[in-house]
Amino acid sequence: MQAADMGDDLQQVLITEEQIGHRLDELAQQIDADYAGQDLLLVGVLKGAVYVVADLSRRLRRSADMDWMAVSSYGSGTKSSGVVRILKDLDADLTGRHVLIVEDIIDSGLTLSWLLGNLSSRGAASVEIATLLRKPEAMKVQVDVRYVGFDIPNEFVVGYGLDYAERYRNLRFIGTLAPHVYEG
Ligand code: 5GP
Ligand code: MG
Ligand code: MG
Repeated sequence: MQAADMGDDLQQVLITEEQIGHRLDELAQQIDADYAGQDLLLVGVLKGAVYVVADLSRRLRRSADMDWMAVSSYGSGTKSSGVVRILKDLDADLTGRHVLIVEDIIDSGLTLSWLLGNLSSRGAASVEIATLLRKPEAMKVQVDVRYVGFDIPNEFVVGYGLDYAERYRNLRFIGTLAPHVYEG
C-alpha cells in the first residue's frame, strides 16, 4: 500500500520506503560485524516487527535463526497501558544463545524493558535490542538499545508494520494519520 492508496487518511510521510531500506542496509552491516563468529537468534515481536525482521534479516550476509513472540501493551488506541501480556511465547530454548530482539518502535520503553528482563532470565548468552523507530521524548524507562533505525518525534505513526486499530500495517512507508481517522 502506498500514499496514493490512502485517500485523505494520510497526514504526512515521515520516512520513505527508500530511507528505511538504506538504514536497514547500515544496521545489517553493523550486526554482521558485531556477531561475527557467533550464532544469532533474531526474536521478532509480533505483529509490528514482521517487516523489520523480514527486510533486516535478508540484508545480513550470514545465517540467522528466527523466532517470534507476541506481547501486548497497547489496546486499539494510541496510549501505552504499561501492562504487558504474553500472547505467544517463543518456540526456541534461549540457553546459551545470542538473542537480538527486533522491534518496530520504542515509545515508553515499558514493553522492551519487560521483554529484556524476561528473555534475559532464560539463560541467554546475550540479549540485545534492535528497533526501527524510537521516540526519545516519550521514554519512561531507561532501556539500552544497541541498534536504532530512526529517532522520531513523539507522534503516533503507522505503516511498515505499525497499525492503528490493525489498519495500515501494510503501508510501504512510515507516516502519520489525518485527525479525522481517529475521530471517525
Ligand atoms: P511502549 O511499551 O514502548 O510504549 O510501546 C510498545 C508498543 O506500542 C510498540 O511495540 C507498538 O506496538 C506500540 N506503539 C508505540 N508507539 C506507537 C506508534 O507511534 N504507532 C503505533 N502504531 N504503535 C505504537
Ligand atoms: Mg512492537
Ligand atoms: Mg499496535
